[in-house]
Amino acid sequence: MNARYTRVVLALGSNLGERNDTLSEAVADLVDGPEVRLLAVSPVVQTKAVGGPEGQPDFLNMVMTVETTLEPLELLRHCQSVENKHHRIREVRWGPRTLDVDIIAYGDLESSDPQLTLPHPRAAERAFVLYPWSLIDPAATLNGTRIGELAARAADFPDLTPFDGFGDFNGVPTAGAVE
Ligand code: AMP
Repeated sequence: MNARYTRVVLALGSNLGERNDTLSEAVADLVDGPEVRLLAVSPVVQTKAVGGPEGQPDFLNMVMTVETTLEPLELLRHCQSVENKHHRIREVRWGPRTLDVDIIAYGDLESSDPQLTLPHPRAAERAFVLYPWSLIDPAATLNGTRIGELAARAADFPDLTPFDGFGDFNGVPTAGAVE
């Protein structure tokens, strides 16, 4: 029997603990079962934590595209179970938030349900989502506009840097150059 797969965009972020290890493990966990197949993984970008406590580590953010047979709410539960697996409190001061997984888009589905709003209501303003997404899916649009263009316009765009471990995006054009 041919299962029906829907293309999905997921955004992952971490600013506590071993951030890059957490993201790497989360990618593997998210595609562990046959219901979710990996299509592409973006570079990791680093975003300054704006506001919040002094000395807070930068966020590491990335985007992955997958295809899934899970229904939207099943996928949300799956993402939340991966988040929960990584919410290990190793020191109290770290607080509980080591991993955030958001569903940015589920096929062309539009939903205003607060439990699962699609496309993600704040994605169009977040360069830390739009820019890495544009690197793996440059033709994608949100609200009729290319995501690379939205990224370049987003307030946090100047705060994005490549993750230290990645060098200079390996020569991949910057978001402003993505048509
Ligand atoms: P947060 O703690 O900021 O990640 O928010 C998690 C809450 O947002 C959960 O209760 C989800 O049900 C809800 N939510 C609504 N839309 C989405 C979405 N597109 N992706 C992930 N969580 C969502």
